[in-house]
Amino acid sequence: MLIWILLALVVAAYVYEDAKKRDLSNNKWAKTPGNWALGVFFLMIVFLPLYIMNRGPEKGDLRPVERFCGNCGARLTQVNGTCTVCGAKLITSHNQ
Ligand SMILES: [Zn+2]
Repeated sequence: MLIWILLALVVAAYVYEDAKKRDLSNNKWAKTPGNWALGVFFLMIVFLPLYIMNRGPEKGDLRPVERFCGNCGARLTQVNGTCTVCGAKLITSHNQ
């Protein structure tokens, strides 16, 4: 019996850490990592598949969009200011 409690603890801890990396605000089942961890701990057979199917993408997947200079086509390391290659003024979508 103890082994199952330990297993549930390990899986619940994993779900908790994993859920912290994800955006749960649109999740219809549970909106906090703690709720998911509790659910998995007490009802793993129900909550673990539910979590896997509904967890959504990791926040880390949202990478900044790459930008290129409209004048020379150089890849830009900054969003505002001037192009470091040709010196052209950079126009952002905000002030067009
Ligand atoms: Zn340029």
